Amino acid sequence: MPSHTMELPRLIVVGENNIKDFGEFLFSLNKPKKISLISGIHVKKIIKKKIERSLKLKKIKFTWHISKDNQISTLSQIQKDIKKDHSDLLAGIGGGRSVDTAKMVSFNLDIPFVSVPTAASHDGMASPFVSIKSDKPHSLVATAPLGVFVDINVIKKAPSKLLASGCGDLIANIIAVKDWQLGHKKTGEYYGMYSADLALLSAKIIMENSRKYSKEGLDARVIVEALISAGVASCIAGSSRPCSGAEHLFSHALDKIAPGKGLHGEKCGIGSIMMAKLQGQDWKKIVKTLNEVGAPTTAKQIGVKESEIIEALMMAQELRPERYTILKEIEMTEQRAINLAKRTKVI
Ligand SMILES: [Zn+2]
Repeated sequence: MPSHTMELPRLIVVGENNIKDFGEFLFSLNKPKKISLISGIHVKKIIKKKIERSLKLKKIKFTWHISKDNQISTLSQIQKDIKKDHSDLLAGIGGGRSVDTAKMVSFNLDIPFVSVPTAASHDGMASPFVSIKSDKPHSLVATAPLGVFVDINVIKKAPSKLLASGCGDLIANIIAVKDWQLGHKKTGEYYGMYSADLALLSAKIIMENSRKYSKEGLDARVIVEALISAGVASCIAGSSRPCSGAEHLFSHALDKIAPGKGLHGEKCGIGSIMMAKLQGQDWKKIVKTLNEVGAPTTAKQIGVKESEIIEALMMAQELRPERYTILKEIEMTEQRAINLAKRTKVI
């Protein structure tokens, strides 16, 4: 058997009202003298003061960089600017894009980075994968964060649809793991039982608690911990396999066909409903869970046309031919795609 590498975050802090301890966290991680901070304009306005105060307390110098989109040109510019900073550490502070940017720059410049998520809409906060717009339609492997720092009070201030989207990204693991098992059986590819089970566990937590969430609201802390744990599962697997199967390919196809419509986790949730049906899993339970957490279950809810769903179903597997999923077992004709989307009430 070939050797297997696991790159993991070293320090993960999940707290409440703890953004003031950010400097302390960095200090315990690698005693940086200077840090480059990457965030969006909005995020910077909200937590800038608190972050700066805590960095000054630890005498850590800092420079801010604004990530305005996920285009490769923006990324290259930020990378050039950061190179001039001569920092010992990078921090990606934001909902997804800033963390992704930090991840990619960290990988390219070989400087460690920390992830500071301000929303919990997907499982990228602790994983080594990035979704930067490139010639590849799916996520790219970069580097795992050295540390993850979460203030639950910041996460709670973000719109609840973001947390619901995070639940969709977690439910996707049920499909992804089944696809991974199928791939292992059909192609002999590596399958890591431990990382597969860990990814399933984070989906299970949502499946088991969704009823409660529908009455009492989403539990940000539990969802954040599940998302971190899913990211760690990917680190252990050494690939996105435990968290990304046919439902993610469907979501990536929609990114191409209907750009800007629906959040990543929302699209993965809807994809999970249909792929569960193909895999012979309990798709109705997935619909029920998504409903209970307040995540969309239909094309209409995310503003996507019926024809776009059909096209995405037919395109999905082509986007990543080497990744064996349930879609390899079926010839997804137009009629099959229509039937599938209709029977599961996605359209
Ligand atoms: Zn995802």
